[in-house]
Amino acid sequence: MSPSKAVPYKTYLEENELPRAWYNMRADMEKKPAPLLNPATLKPVSAEDLEKVFCRELVKQELDDTTPFIPIPQGIQDFYRMFRPSPLVRAYFLERALGTPAKIYYKFEGNNTSGSHKLNSAVAQAYYAKEQGLKGVTTETGAGQWGTALSMACAFYGLECKVFMVKCSYEQKPFRREVMRTYGASVTPSPSMETEAGRRINAAHPGTTGSLGCAISEAVEAAVSKDGFRYVLGSVLAQVLLHQSVIGLEAKKAFDKIGEKPDVIIGCAGGGSNLGGLIAPFMGEKLRGEADYRFIAVEPASCPSFTRGRYAYDFCDTGRVCPLQKMYTLGHDFIPSANHAGGLRYHGMSATLSELYAQGLMEAVSVEQTAVFEAAEKFARIEGILPAPESSHAIKAAIDEALRCKAEGREKTILFGLTGTGYFDMVAYGKYNDREMTDSIPTDAELEASFAKLPAAGR
Ligand SMILES: *Cc1c(COP(=O)(O)O)cnc(C)c1O
Repeated sequence: MSPSKAVPYKTYLEENELPRAWYNMRADMEKKPAPLLNPATLKPVSAEDLEKVFCRELVKQELDDTTPFIPIPQGIQDFYRMFRPSPLVRAYFLERALGTPAKIYYKFEGNNTSGSHKLNSAVAQAYYAKEQGLKGVTTETGAGQWGTALSMACAFYGLECKVFMVKCSYEQKPFRREVMRTYGASVTPSPSMETEAGRRINAAHPGTTGSLGCAISEAVEAAVSKDGFRYVLGSVLAQVLLHQSVIGLEAKKAFDKIGEKPDVIIGCAGGGSNLGGLIAPFMGEKLRGEADYRFIAVEPASCPSFTRGRYAYDFCDTGRVCPLQKMYTLGHDFIPSANHAGGLRYHGMSATLSELYAQGLMEAVSVEQTAVFEAAEKFARIEGILPAPESSHAIKAAIDEALRCKAEGREKTILFGLTGTGYFDMVAYGKYNDREMTDSIPTDAELEASFAKLPAAGR
């Protein structure tokens, strides 16, 4: 079977078809996501609270749950044009290999140097920081994708970029670090001796290799203690989902163009930004009662926020400096066991997706690591792209769905988000190839111990 002439293998949009406005799903939600709370007063955070930490325009976007379309400034559209639209690909070869009657499509976000969808929000956040006249931004990075994307965006707009990189990643992923430095970022292993938070953690746990929660605390402290700096975050927040809506808006337009419509939309979920972006316009139709779709979030069994977490107010970071957010959470102290999908190791989930899930508008599944790499290997050999371990969670769920279609003899159209490439994850692939990879799943007792530490507002 060769790719059909009627339906192209890859669908691109014309330049004049690129989105000119982001879509804010919250505007169409009857019951809105719960507001962020100030951890000191337990009252909803004010713009003034947030502006000490975040850029002004981004605070406005964070707090806006009523405006459906927010124009994309020309300066951001210009950057998007350098790497967008991303292709919508019909996975003909995977369909044939599976022998499924289902049609499988994926939206590929790995076609830029950072290698993932994170650049969509990094560009927006750096742009607004520059507009505000700031000198630079600080952030944390775990696996390194977000830090890389932000470095690229800061280089383009002429901003300083200070990245706190979780120490074990800093040591294990020297190439990610060097990409960031090549784009002009300064990269500090966390915990460092540069911040109060870092010194405290180093003193309490000598020789620690760090955690994402700790790096967040350091990056926030560095931002608020430096003139002309703000902190930026690459996932979880509503503003990040808003920027990522370009993925879904492009996908929707491309489907309209080829006269198709997905029945099931699948994405991996770490903090929820790519999934929230991919489903946005489709969920909008569902919320407005115009069309129906199934949405499936895929998470690692080692960090199962949706499938086993509590829907409660919790801290977004270990250092408890960030606002409280109502979300599906495993507890802010939860540290998932070693898992190679670094981008899916966050303890919580986007408040918007959490509310949609609580309302039954979205489903979630968890998958085990070895099964994910098996799917990744299959996909690489059949479709040619070496996927990121995070993205491979969505591949695994899409393959399972396609096989169910085969068993039931049903012809459905499946769309999944292929969020990035896996070139910096070869240590993980090596473990899989050497059959040294294992699955580890938290016990109920471990989760209960973590839930017991939820803040009083969350219980
Ligand atoms: C960060 C990352 C994710 C997970 O983050 P979300 O905010 O849930 O989208 C998924 N895939 C890749 C490649 C990533 O870098």
